[in-house]
Amino acid sequence: MLLASVAHMTAADKLKALIVDGQNNHRWQETTPVLKNILEDSGLFVVTVATAPPGPNMSSFHPDFAAYDVVISNYNGMAWPDTTSTALEKYVGDGGGFVSYHAADNAFPDWKEYNEMIGVGGWGGRMNAQGKACGHHGARLPFQITIRKADHPITRDLPPVWMHAADELYDSLCGPLKEGAILATAYSDPANKGTGLNEPMLMAMPYGKGRVFHTTLGHDTDAMQSVDFIVTLQRGAEWAATGKVTQKVPDDFPAAGKISVRKVIP
Ligand code: ZN
Repeated sequence: MLLASVAHMTAADKLKALIVDGQNNHRWQETTPVLKNILEDSGLFVVTVATAPPGPNMSSFHPDFAAYDVVISNYNGMAWPDTTSTALEKYVGDGGGFVSYHAADNAFPDWKEYNEMIGVGGWGGRMNAQGKACGHHGARLPFQITIRKADHPITRDLPPVWMHAADELYDSLCGPLKEGAILATAYSDPANKGTGLNEPMLMAMPYGKGRVFHTTLGHDTDAMQSVDFIVTLQRGAEWAATGKVTQKVPDDFPAAGKISVRKVIP
């Protein structure tokens, strides 16, 4: 029934998503079209892209966040004009949806409200209470992801454990994240220079009246083809936009011992 109704959704009925990019130490020119494709493949979203100027003059960058149901950040670069930062805080605080994708949690180490929004971040001079740098990963290898909160709309009906295709496993992120926000973790293996801890991979939390979904996954277009990346991004973006998830878990979702990939490069 869902598929039939989605197929008959007109553009005017769909959720409006805005991807923000333009500066990143990752290949945003390659990953933004994949993000767009993944969101549109759900049948739920129409996607617009706002590309920031290369800098140093950022004064022209003023996306109209409030015109969208969800904003997805693929941005890791220079500080935005104060009015743009304030507009994002107001947009999410007033009930908007925000998705932090992979290196978006490297951005804006000095912007307090942004760090409240995303819960944890890394690099950019971030330090933990022990004075150690936050943000690290080992070599890109496949790893298992374990659900820690199964009763959330994003994770409901997902298997308790699955295998994620080769990707960066972020560790040592820091910030004001509350434990209840952690939806899924992965074990950071000391054999791959990891911490020996279960590190947060997927997070969901409120910010004011709004909702934030944070995925640390998806370093490159290969990692983005892991079906769990695709599905959790689609579900996380819908939840951030509406507070609900109407999508079914697809048959090609990975199992505990087996990765599953789907071509998503446009
Ligand atoms: Zn990366």
